[in-house]
Amino acid sequence: MNDPAQTVNVIGGGLAGSEAAWQVARRGLQVRLFEMRPLQTTGAHRTGDLAELVCSNSLKSDEQNTAPRLLKDELREGGSLLIRLAEAAAVPAGGALAVDRERFAASVSEALSSHPNIEIRRQEAFHINPDEINVIAAGPLASRALSKEISRLTGVDGLYFYDAISPVVEGDTINFETAFRAARYGKGGDDYVNCPMSRDDYDRFYDALIIAEAVPAHNQSGNEEPEKYFEGCLPIEELARRGRDTLRFGPMKPVGLEDPRTGREPYAAVQLRLENLMADAYNIVGFQCHLKYGEQKRVLQLIPGLERAEFIRFGQMHRNTFICSPRLLRETLQMKAHPRVLFAGQISGIEGYTEAMATGMLAGINAARIAHGLETIAAPRESATGSLAFYLANADARNFQPANTTFALLPPLSADDRKQSRRKTDRHRVQVERGLSAFRDWLRQSGESFSRQSWPQIPLVAAE
Ligand SMILES: Cc1cc2nc3c(=O)[nH]c(=O)nc-3n(C[C@H](O)[C@H](O)[C@H](O)COP(=O)(O)OP(=O)(O)OC[C@H]3O[C@@H](n4cnc5c(N)ncnc54)[C@H](O)[C@@H]3O)c2cc1C
Repeated sequence: MNDPAQTVNVIGGGLAGSEAAWQVARRGLQVRLFEMRPLQTTGAHRTGDLAELVCSNSLKSDEQNTAPRLLKDELREGGSLLIRLAEAAAVPAGGALAVDRERFAASVSEALSSHPNIEIRRQEAFHINPDEINVIAAGPLASRALSKEISRLTGVDGLYFYDAISPVVEGDTINFETAFRAARYGKGGDDYVNCPMSRDDYDRFYDALIIAEAVPAHNQSGNEEPEKYFEGCLPIEELARRGRDTLRFGPMKPVGLEDPRTGREPYAAVQLRLENLMADAYNIVGFQCHLKYGEQKRVLQLIPGLERAEFIRFGQMHRNTFICSPRLLRETLQMKAHPRVLFAGQISGIEGYTEAMATGMLAGINAARIAHGLETIAAPRESATGSLAFYLANADARNFQPANTTFALLPPLSADDRKQSRRKTDRHRVQVERGLSAFRDWLRQSGESFSRQSWPQIPLVAAE
């Protein structure tokens, strides 16, 4: 059972790597989990904890019949450690699953470091031996030396874009004479703080934003280079450049909100979401940006309610590394050329925290199967996990862009099913039910069902 040649190397103790390590270890195999933090940082992470969330604290919607919920339900079915600890560290966020990030990461670190099958090596991994079983989950900010090694292995070089971090403000510096608590359409209590804007407020903000000075983007040799953004996570200054009203139809959309001072929908609104249970830190939702810090302060303080806001963290931009998976991966997340090497998480070409966990789970299952001499398996196409893996293996390699879980990624319904479900919400319900049932059947038929009796006691780390 403990044959060293069958020990699984997991490179990166982020969301995907932590889940992969757990899935391998709970199948009775030994894991070497390489994590370079805190000795070496990525630029976005701030602690040495495993599974640190680098930006938002939200794992997206947990509402019935949504695509993000389907992915979470599949993680629950697969016995995911991370989804279980996320639920235990949840903070109020309406219909979304948001977590107290410190508590979540501390709990994952504690669970993995106390697991008898897992050895955590706090060092940078930069050599991959394709004869050993490896799960590469080094994330979008994989170290340079490892990126070079991956390029050597994959033959793919220079595929990158930029991603962004939203600013965080201190809760007691928000002016609640102007800002008000409410969720859109009154759904989900008052977990959000809203800063309403009149047309004049919006114009003043827009005019300042459009001329604010950005931080120049640099490549690894330090030379300036043009930015290539991920469409799903554009910085506000880039959105503003696309048109005066683009922000009003994006992160500053006022729909579903009523300003209690006027009784009307504002012209635009900025939303802030609670960062943790201490109610002292708020994330400005969708406000990732790459402006110089002084400029950010000047522009963001033009938002009514944030005139005197103190910033715990300013928005930032980061390099994002990912492989061209349609050329390189199978749906099992194994490399076509090196079947003992698997990829998981953002570096495999997916995008999002929960997506990283799900690909970590699938890679972990398959790494364990390789070690046990079993055939590797692909998750069903109807499931959210299977759709992600299908996308990775089959997307157009020439224009490959990382993807989130959405209904668009799931296979469409048959003509008959569509006839019976005329409303979009009904079609979504059918897609979700079909996906979850296929996923459960797949786990059972492949002998990978998670038995709740075998679930060990994992203490949740107490909040500070
Ligand atoms: C700045 C930024 C903001 C983001 N914001 C969000 C968001 O708000 N919501 C969302 O859903 N997604 C967000 N993402 C996208 C993505 O979901 C996260 O990056 C997520 O953490 C990816 O999980 P992962 O496990 O693939 O990588 P990570 O969580 O980054 O884990 C990778 C780990 O590998 C380690 N590592 C790297 N190289 C080595 C090496 N050579 N040896 C050993 N260890 C190494 C790193 O230290 C890190 O701990 C963001 C990404 C970035 C870059």
